[in-house]
Parts: sequence; structure tokens; C-alpha cells
Amino acid sequence: MVEKVYITYNQVHKLCQESAARILNDFKPNLMIAIGGGGYVPARILRSFLKRPGSPNIPIQAIGLSLYESLPTSASSPSSAPETAGTIVTRTQWLDLSSLEMANLIGKRVLIVDEVDDTRTTLEYAVRELQKDVEAAAEQQGRQEEGGRTKFSVFVLHNKEKVKRGRLPDGMVQEGRYAAARTVGDVWICYPWEATDIDEHDRLAAQQPQT
Ligand code: 5GP
Repeated sequence: MVEKVYITYNQVHKLCQESAARILNDFKPNLMIAIGGGGYVPARILRSFLKRPGSPNIPIQAIGLSLYESLPTSASSPSSAPETAGTIVTRTQWLDLSSLEMANLIGKRVLIVDEVDDTRTTLEYAVRELQKDVEAAAEQQGRQEEGGRTKFSVFVLHNKEKVKRGRLPDGMVQEGRYAAARTVGDVWICYPWEATDIDEHDRLAAQQPQT
């Protein structure tokens, strides 16, 4: 049985608060992209802590990504070869390449926010595809040079320490463009926004050792 870890809204709030200083210092984003649905709440909380007096709130844009395990198809993909069980990321929502949404990213420092980095498949997809689309939008607008200056970074509440299937661009971690509020083992994290009974969820969280 995979261990379950219950996280409260209060803990999410504090994880965002304590990470904000590092994000401001290392990355100074001008824009956030929340990966739905888990990135929405952390992005909104983080925005309050990234706000500087005299500066406007950092805008939040949203994309939606879902992960589907491709099931082994009998002989072609025997179940004894788990590494062949691919994982497909599907866009449920994306930025409109031709609109201001994408143009707004050109030359910016963009912070991608999600709740958890598990196999890293989703983050790899998000960074790679956004980078590609920003470059295409910059080219369309004759702003290639500016497009090349677009920088992506990542913030997650939890990073699971495990062998990752996905890869982030070289230098992202070394250059301080990857921040996880907590590193955890390969547990299953229950976030409060998924709870059907929030009082029970909070009760289970209170019974756990505090981290
Ligand atoms: P990935 O494997 O691509 O890093 O994570 C894909 C998605 O799976 C995450 O964005 C998240 O929605 C979901 N996920 C992975 N691990 C957990 C977990 O421990 N708890 C919850 N609630 N969702 C998870």
C-alpha cells in the first residue's frame, strides 16, 4: 500500500509563503502559468506573496494537462516490460498561439506552477511545449531575439524523490529555476482541494507527524 500524506490548506499557504522569497530572489517572474487543476490554488496564493509594493500583481495564465497511461497491448507490449508502458500527456486547455496570451510570454520570465512533480512527465511536456510555442509566436511577430530571451522556471509544492521519466532543460535546476517547497518520498499526497470531506481530511492531516 502506498503511504498517503494529507496536506491542509494552511500547509499549502505556508509552503507558498516560505518559497516566495527564494522565487523572488532567484527568478523574479513577470508572469505565472498554472497547470490545472493542481497548480491553480498554489499559483493564486503565491501571487499574494510575490506582490511588491508599487508593482502590479503578477498575471496568472492557465493551461490544462492530463496524463494517461497507455495500456500495454498484449503481444506488442508485454506486461513484463514496464518501461515500455508510455505515458501520454493530453492538453485539456492551452494558450492561444495567435492571441495576446502567447505574445504576453515573449521575452518574459515565466514561472510554471504545479502541485507535485511525480514522474516529471507533465513538467517536461509543459516546459518543452511552451518554449516551442513562444518561439513560434516570436517568429510570427518578428521578435525572434526577444523570444530567445524568454526564461521558464518551475515551482511545485512537492517533489517526489524518485527516478524521473521526464527531463527538464539543462541548466534549469543549476540556475535556480526549479523550486520545490518540499522533497518527499514516493508517497501519495492528498491535497485539500480534492477532499470530499474537508473536516475528515484535516483530521487525518492532524494525526500525521508535522513536516
Ligand atoms: P507527473 O507524473 O507528470 O509528474 O505528475 C502528473 C500529475 O499526476 C500531477 O500533476 C498530479 O496531478 C498527479 N499526481 C502525481 N502524484 C500525485 C500525488 O501524490 N497526489 C496527487 N493528488 N496527485 C498526484
